[in-house]
Amino acid sequence: MKIETRLSLAYFILATLWIILSDAVLSAVAIPELVNTIQTYKGALFVIVTSLLLFALLHWEFERRRRSERAALESRANFRYLFLNNPLPMWVYDLETLQFLDVNEAAIDQYGYSRDEFLSMRITDIRPSEDVPRLLEHATRDRPALQHGGVWRHRYKNGDVVSVDITSHRLDFAGHDAVLIVAQNVTDRISAQDALRESNAALQAVILAAPLAIFRFNPQGIIQLCNPAAERLFGWNASELVGSFPPYIGAEYRDEFIDIVKRTCGGEIIISHETQRMRKDGSFIHVSISTAPIQDAGGAVKEIIAMVMDITERKRMEAELLEQERLRLALNKEIELRNLRGRFMSMVSHEFRNPLAVISTSTGMLERYYDRMSDESRQASFARVQTHIKYLAEMLDDILTLLHTESIGPDFQPVSLDLVDLCKRLVTETSLQVQETHQIEWLTHVPQASIQGDPKLLQQALNNLLSNAVKYSPPESTIQMEITWDDHQINIQVKDQGIGIPSGDLKRLFEPFFRAENVGSIPGNGLGLAIVQQAVELHGGQLQVESELGVGSIFTVHLPANGHPA
Ligand code: ADP
Repeated sequence: MKIETRLSLAYFILATLWIILSDAVLSAVAIPELVNTIQTYKGALFVIVTSLLLFALLHWEFERRRRSERAALESRANFRYLFLNNPLPMWVYDLETLQFLDVNEAAIDQYGYSRDEFLSMRITDIRPSEDVPRLLEHATRDRPALQHGGVWRHRYKNGDVVSVDITSHRLDFAGHDAVLIVAQNVTDRISAQDALRESNAALQAVILAAPLAIFRFNPQGIIQLCNPAAERLFGWNASELVGSFPPYIGAEYRDEFIDIVKRTCGGEIIISHETQRMRKDGSFIHVSISTAPIQDAGGAVKEIIAMVMDITERKRMEAELLEQERLRLALNKEIELRNLRGRFMSMVSHEFRNPLAVISTSTGMLERYYDRMSDESRQASFARVQTHIKYLAEMLDDILTLLHTESIGPDFQPVSLDLVDLCKRLVTETSLQVQETHQIEWLTHVPQASIQGDPKLLQQALNNLLSNAVKYSPPESTIQMEITWDDHQINIQVKDQGIGIPSGDLKRLFEPFFRAENVGSIPGNGLGLAIVQQAVELHGGQLQVESELGVGSIFTVHLPANGHPA
């Protein structure tokens, strides 16, 4: 039962009870002459009370209606405000005529038409002409109240065509069967998707056409994709490769492959790692592998891309080149030896002939004229023979030393030795031999300088330096020998006040048989310094020369120290 029926019924019952009960009470207790007067007051009271009740009810009801009308008006105003000021373009059109019925500011702003222009148009007028048939077909379909219409193309007043995502809502608009449209511009998103699709297609084309084998692995090293070049290189089909651990990894390269995958998953880009891989027929090929991680938006490595290049041919050529280089070096060595022998032969003809001629003449004279010769002449002839034999013997020694090292290898027998001791002995011996012409000074204050060295080779080398200093210095001049040291090496210096060496000859000075142009008639064979350098290099040291023409020369031997000299 409705509330108004219940209220009316209650009023009827209460009013009837009031009239009957109040009349009964009045006739029972009131004085008869006053009954009429009291009834008049009772009726007036009844009218006042019911009037007040009626007023309260009507006031409550009208107030409620006013409030709901105000709320409805407010809600319409709010809706209109939201419609007009919505940042997304919105409009309402008549479902039957397709005419625009209302349009918001965003639509006016974006599409470029004024409100009046919009209201004079149909929704077909903002479409590219080729899209209109599809739109008309869509508009005639039965539609739900709320519908996501998908992406459509709209044309602005300036001719630009944009992609919009449409949401529609069917409604009654001022008596029209109408549709409210919300159009969101998604041109950028669609262009980005198109660009991504295009770039994926281009990438796919590159991968398919690439002459390099290209693989994509997951972080567990399982093949996710491979290109035709990979099939050609290894001999397996893509269907056999994808989804499995690479079958072309030989057992001995398994750990290496896992390491490459791990490093790439750690973010490393590996470039041109050279290794070997196995073909389906079991043969091995040399490959160069480059890998890079593919990271997701959060930076986590989700895949690895690997490019594999067959470098078997290059490796074969490299090996060939190495072999050629080895042969070239061997040939050079052979040529060098031949040149050395050639120089030796020409030197022999020069250097050996003269002393032999002297020996031959002297011994011939001794043989033929011994009896007629004075004692002095005989002694002089014997001395000449001995000097020249000694000269020949020394030269032969030098040649043999050089040739032995060049062709057979060094005869190097290092022992722990004291250089101070060795040099001191050499200085004493040489001083005795040249005491009439030269003075040799020993400037060293170091008590001991121990190294690992071959005493025979070192003695021969230092002897050569000392005898050169004597040979190329004028009589009465002084020769100095000194040993110094620094952190890592011992330096033995032989200094003279001799003829010096022309600067142009310095760089060839250590070549066998080379003699400076200023030697004049001073005897020599150009082998001594070559032997010195050979010996010094065998000890891991260096030979240096400083010289000034007409002033003197300083030869320094630097040898690695065996700990600090004492
Ligand atoms: P040799 O002295 O028998 O000619 P070396 O090999 O010992 O052969 O020396 C090569 C050349 O270096 C010498 O011919 C000479 O021109 C030059 N030379 C070596 N030592 C000295 C020196 N102390 N002073 C000047 N020239 C020197």
